[in-house]
Amino acid sequence: MQYRPLGRTGLTVSMLGYGASPLGGVFGQIDEQAGIRAVRTALDLGVNIIDVAPYYGATVAEQVLGRALRGVDRDTYLLASKVGRYGDSAFDFSAARVTASVEESLGRLGTDHLDLVQCHDIEFGDLDQIIDETLPTLAGLRAAGKVRFLGITGYPLPALARVAAAVPVDTVLSYCRYTLLDRTLAAAAPGFATAGAAVMNASPLAMGLLTRRGAPDWHPAPPEVRRAAAAVADRCAARGVDIAQVALSFAAAPVEFATTFVGSANADNMADNVRWALSDIDPDLLQEIEKVVAPVLNYAWSTGRPENNNPGEAA
Ligand code: NAD
Repeated sequence: MQYRPLGRTGLTVSMLGYGASPLGGVFGQIDEQAGIRAVRTALDLGVNIIDVAPYYGATVAEQVLGRALRGVDRDTYLLASKVGRYGDSAFDFSAARVTASVEESLGRLGTDHLDLVQCHDIEFGDLDQIIDETLPTLAGLRAAGKVRFLGITGYPLPALARVAAAVPVDTVLSYCRYTLLDRTLAAAAPGFATAGAAVMNASPLAMGLLTRRGAPDWHPAPPEVRRAAAAVADRCAARGVDIAQVALSFAAAPVEFATTFVGSANADNMADNVRWALSDIDPDLLQEIEKVVAPVLNYAWSTGRPENNNPGEAA
């Protein structure tokens, strides 16, 4: 495992982070014991940062993660959770709700502090509220010792850039924005760094799109992007390589990202992911993949409030 600085926090994080959304059954029913083994395997193999949220499985992911971490030395991993998103269309970034939310997360996770608290999917909120109310409230929780660092997450990069420029945040997390299909986050990373934020890359497998199993039904990618991903899988299979290996090593490589969060509730998959994170990609295969994805490269779907989607950014 390689380790990288988490921006200006003074923390050092594993280049591969554990994304806990699958523990909430987001990608299909899971066996809790298998999920717990996946978390323990990730930690045993050097992963030292875990991302979760109350939203994942309507608090189930936090509950399962809390059970997985029971008995693990709290100083050996960094715990990131979120506030503000509680359902597919349930958002509340108010001071009262986010304050209660952090307490609830601490209870489910069995800890007295979060290393990082992030405003979850800010494009669904009023960005002025996040700037003027949510982040100042979280700064108060930091002063009280409940959280150590503050961050924001979301899909449209302009919304993240606007908030990061207005209020100093320690981290910015975006997802599906640096993969074989979309390279946008790498281009945006220097701007976030200038604003003082570490960039965290999530969903290197494009939320399942870049796996042999393919994406879940709820995935927002349109048919042409799904078809391109399937064609990439075929090219990889023809060369005897798992598409997930190529996708993961590609997404985790840029040093502009402090870490890349990959999710799995399967210990064998997590062991593969750690092994694959630093693997090489056959240049001929990569060239073939570039040709296949060219027509849909950097396609961005629309999500969140219309005013938070830059027209040049999302289709
Ligand atoms: P991902 O790209 O990591 O893909 C997850 C899917 O890939 C799951 O179906 C999983 O079973 C499968 N998978 C994982 N490893 C595999 C392997 N070795 N072989 C085959 N299949 C494999 O997507 P994700 O889980 O959405 O993203 C990772 C994490 O990033 C999340 O769990 C979450 O913590 C974070 N995230 C945050 C946000 C946000 O804050 N808005 C959004 C998306 C993701």
